[in-house]
Amino acid sequence: MTHRQDDLYVRYMSAFSASRTHTSDCERCQNSQDCIVGTPLHERFARLQDAYNTQQSRQPRR
Ligand SMILES: [Zn+2]
Repeated sequence: MTHRQDDLYVRYMSAFSASRTHTSDCERCQNSQDCIVGTPLHERFARLQDAYNTQQSRQPRR
C-alpha cells in the first residue's frame, strides 16, 4: 500500500514538473490557451492531482 502511494506521488510530481516546465517555455499555455503539446501534459497533471488529493483525504492523519 505504501508503495502504491509513493508511486502515485512520484507520478504526480513528475506530471507537475512536466506541465510546469512546458508552460514556462510556451506562450500559449501561459495565456491559458493550451497548445497541442501542452494539453495532454496539463490534463495528466490535473488527473494525477485529483487522484493524489482523493487518496490523501482518504488516509487517516498520522
Ligand atoms: Zn504549450
